[in-house]
Amino acid sequence: MYKNVVDFIQELYKTKEFIALHEPRFIGNEKKYVNETIDSTFVSSVGKFVTQFEEMVAEYVGSKYAVATSNGTSALHIGLKLVGVDEYCEVITQPLTFIATANAISYCNAEPIFVDVDKETLGLSPQKLKAFLEEFTTMDESGNCINKSTNKIIKACVPMHTFGHPCKIDEIVKICESYNIAVVEDSAESLGSYYKGKHTGTFGKVGIFSFNGNKIITTGGGGMIVTDDEELAKRAKHITTTAKVPHPYEYIHDEVGYNYRLTNLAAALGVAQMENLALFIEKQRELASKYNDFFKNSDLEFIKEPKNSTSNYWLNAVILKDKEERDVFLKYTNENGIMTRCVWQLMNKLEMFKNAQTGNLENSLWLEDRVVNISSSVVL
Ligand SMILES: *Cc1c(COP(=O)(O)O)cnc(C)c1O
Repeated sequence: MYKNVVDFIQELYKTKEFIALHEPRFIGNEKKYVNETIDSTFVSSVGKFVTQFEEMVAEYVGSKYAVATSNGTSALHIGLKLVGVDEYCEVITQPLTFIATANAISYCNAEPIFVDVDKETLGLSPQKLKAFLEEFTTMDESGNCINKSTNKIIKACVPMHTFGHPCKIDEIVKICESYNIAVVEDSAESLGSYYKGKHTGTFGKVGIFSFNGNKIITTGGGGMIVTDDEELAKRAKHITTTAKVPHPYEYIHDEVGYNYRLTNLAAALGVAQMENLALFIEKQRELASKYNDFFKNSDLEFIKEPKNSTSNYWLNAVILKDKEERDVFLKYTNENGIMTRCVWQLMNKLEMFKNAQTGNLENSLWLEDRVVNISSSVVL
């Protein structure tokens, strides 16, 4: 019954073999640069590719500073620490996200609060955020936003740009500013995506990216913290490199730091991948446009980039009529060699977050039952 979808995707990828959801493409200088690191023996966290990769990402997204990390989750963990998130705090995020977003909050021993997403962006809803803050919070004399139900400070807000589609980040930042809440953007999925002409990840105080194997570009595993704040950037570098104080021969560490630095080996891959990012995005947008044309005449709704934004279309997605239809679609496509996946289970339904405070989650619940990701590897 979804034979036409399977046929169409097989045609796009020119194969009848198994088609993965999102596999990386290595078509440039990857082997050359990785070999260079091996020949130089600088395979670990010191080496020219790490700095070069940081400079390339900072320039590409238009942020003043970029600090490379071992993965996107560690970047988010540190991003939250940079804005002061600790065990006395709460952090607002969306329930419709990959587990890493919520895990990073837990790594800081802070509590997550889940606020609904918008149907058209799949990202945190500014209206729902405002409604939650108006109903449940008050400001104390020091200007902290206090959750009236727990008496804890709401220190940060982590909106996520789902599948690469930008959320209404300017409105979110504005609301958070008025409540003295720092915005840490989880832009793990949205390298190459812009909102009103400005790159995602550069609206908040801190932004993070991921270079996991399934992202738009990969370093095998890797992440990046971006910010315009020099102090925060320095601190990010310091605590991701074991908080070591420079000294010609002594080991001095001035706080509990982390071994979160990206390796030169991984960064070599990253530099080569960055050289092709523009091409990948062009191809992803072509692919999305083909899907859009195809699904126009079907019962499935293809998820398009939201208003005012340019998406990298990292993961293509469709909306099915209801959960039953979603399961029929998932079963049929997977049985026929096309890897498709439903969207993540909502965070507040997971055992470790089941007691978390939530707002009204009607949109997230609706989407959870219906959204399916379809083949999204770059077609060259
Ligand atoms: C990929 C991803 C991350 C980071 O994941 P890593 O695998 O640790 O690089 C964080 N948040 C979201 C929403 C992601 O999709």
